[in-house]
Amino acid sequence: MKRLVESRLPTAVGSFTILAFGEEGDFFPHVVLMSTLESDAAPVVRIHSECMTGDLFGSARCDCGQQLNRALDSIAKEGGALLYLRQEGRGIGLVEKLKAYNLQDKGRDTIQSNEELGHPADARGYDDAVAILKDLGWDAVQLMTNNPLKMEALNAGGIDVVKRLPVIIPAGKENADYLHVKQSLMGHLLG
Ligand SMILES: [Zn+2]
Repeated sequence: MKRLVESRLPTAVGSFTILAFGEEGDFFPHVVLMSTLESDAAPVVRIHSECMTGDLFGSARCDCGQQLNRALDSIAKEGGALLYLRQEGRGIGLVEKLKAYNLQDKGRDTIQSNEELGHPADARGYDDAVAILKDLGWDAVQLMTNNPLKMEALNAGGIDVVKRLPVIIPAGKENADYLHVKQSLMGHLLG
């Protein structure tokens, strides 16, 4: 994986530099939106795994879209980067994720439905995130996350997480069960 291109990307919430990381010719590279650091503080980083239904279409089944918007707001203000990793559906892909939604509509939770389809509850990995942060030259970050596994993965990769910034999205009718499973069975810190 390498840095493929870097461009200027003005948006409604602020001005970013957009970078793509992957292999030459990649149609689905990892994407980084970076904003300039205004202070000496460690950069604010959000590692966001792709969720087309939540990020683009505002799905109420999860909290991804709202987390993404919150993160971009903070990063535009504080300086740092959003790493947009192409591991849709907690790493099982869009089609399998949508099959899992059907099982959830029959009463399974998000972990049970993944396992029934023959997938792990969470198939995501963060090695690429570590490689990208190193490419950016950052060895210490403030990490926007509720997920202790992400902090462990960065620390194990030699990136110092100097502070955790929680991203708490209030539960709605459609995502309350999902958020409860994340908290009670997947160790997310939502309190
Ligand atoms: Zn989602």
